[in-house]
Amino acid sequence: MSGVWKVLVCDSIDKIGVEILSKAGMIVDYQPDIALEKLMSLVSDYDVLVVRSRTNVSKDVIENGNSLKVIARVGVGLDNVDTNYAKSKNIQVINAQEAATIAVSELVIGSMISLARLIPYAHSELSKGNWIKKSLMGTELSGKYLGIVGVGNIGRNVGRIARALRMNIIGYDIYPISREYINEVSMINADLNTLVESSDFITIHVPLSSDTYHLFDKKLLSRMKKSGYIINTSRGGIVDEIALHDLLKDQKIAGAGLDVFEIEPPTNRKFLEMPNVLGTPHIGAQTKEAQGLAARVIAEKLIHRFQEMSI
Ligand code: NAD
Repeated sequence: MSGVWKVLVCDSIDKIGVEILSKAGMIVDYQPDIALEKLMSLVSDYDVLVVRSRTNVSKDVIENGNSLKVIARVGVGLDNVDTNYAKSKNIQVINAQEAATIAVSELVIGSMISLARLIPYAHSELSKGNWIKKSLMGTELSGKYLGIVGVGNIGRNVGRIARALRMNIIGYDIYPISREYINEVSMINADLNTLVESSDFITIHVPLSSDTYHLFDKKLLSRMKKSGYIINTSRGGIVDEIALHDLLKDQKIAGAGLDVFEIEPPTNRKFLEMPNVLGTPHIGAQTKEAQGLAARVIAEKLIHRFQEMSI
C-alpha cells in the first residue's frame, strides 16, 4: 500500500473533515459538484471516496475504482452506495451513524408543531395580508399518541423529546426494543397496524430497503385516524406518495410532513401546495452541528482505518 491515501470528496462536506484528513497527511481532492462522467474517469486514482447523498456510488463507479479501499458516507443512510457490491470487492463502507440524530429529531418535532398549528400556512396567508385567525384552529401535542416506526437512534431521541412534551409513545421495530428505553419513555410496544390505527402522529425512522419500500402503501395509510398526521424524515420511497396524496385530498388524514421524496427534488408541486402538507428539501441533517460532527467522525474513522490497514 502507498504511504498516503488519496481521498476524493464528491459532495459538499464541512471543511473540518478536509482539514483533519489533510493534517493526517492524506491527499484530499475536494470536488463537491463532480459530474458522474468525471467521477467514472477519475475514480481509479483514489483509495477513498467520500460522499453525502448527491453522489450515487453504483456498481459501475465501484467497478472503475481499482484502488478503492473505503467508501465513506458523511451521514447515516447508505442507500446511495451499492454496499453489497463494495463488500464483494473487499471495499469497506463506513458512515457517521449518530451524527444527525439530534438534527433530524428536532426537525420532526418542529414539523409536528408546524402541522398541528398550521404555522407555515398561517404565515403564508398573513404575508399576503389575510387575517384568517378563525380558520386556523389547531391541535395540541400534549396527551396525543405518537407512533414511532423504527426505534433506532433517531426514533429513540424523538421519543425522548416527545415525552417531555407529554405525548404518549407507541413504538414498532423489527428488532426487540430495549426494556430500559421502553421504561424511560413509558412506551407501548405495538405491531405496525396497531401503531398506525392508534397514533395521532406517526413518525418514520426506518432505513430504505426492499423491505421498507412503500411500507406505507395505500392499505396501511388507510388505517390512519382521520385526524392523524404522518411525518417522514427517513427516506422517500418508504411512503407511497400517490396514495398519500389521494388520502390527503379526500381528507381521510389530517396532514403530512415530508422532508424526503421518492424523486428529489419532488415533481408533484401541487401536492406540496396543500395547506396541510409541510415539505422541506431533505434538510434533516442540515445543521452546522450535525454536518461538523459527521465530517469529523468520518475523517477520524478514515484515519483509524488507514492505521489499521498499514500495520
Ligand atoms: P438506526 O439504524 O439507528 O435506526 C433504524 C431502525 O429501524 C433500527 O432500529 C432498525 O431495527 C429499524 N428497522 C429497520 N427496518 C425496519 C422495518 N422494516 N420495520 C421496522 N423497523 C425497522 O438509524 P437512524 O440513525 O435512526 O436513522 C433512521 C433513518 O433516518 C436512516 O436510515 C436514514 O435513512 C434517515 N435519515 C434521514 C436524514 C435526513 O436528512 N432527513 C438524516 C439522517 C438519517
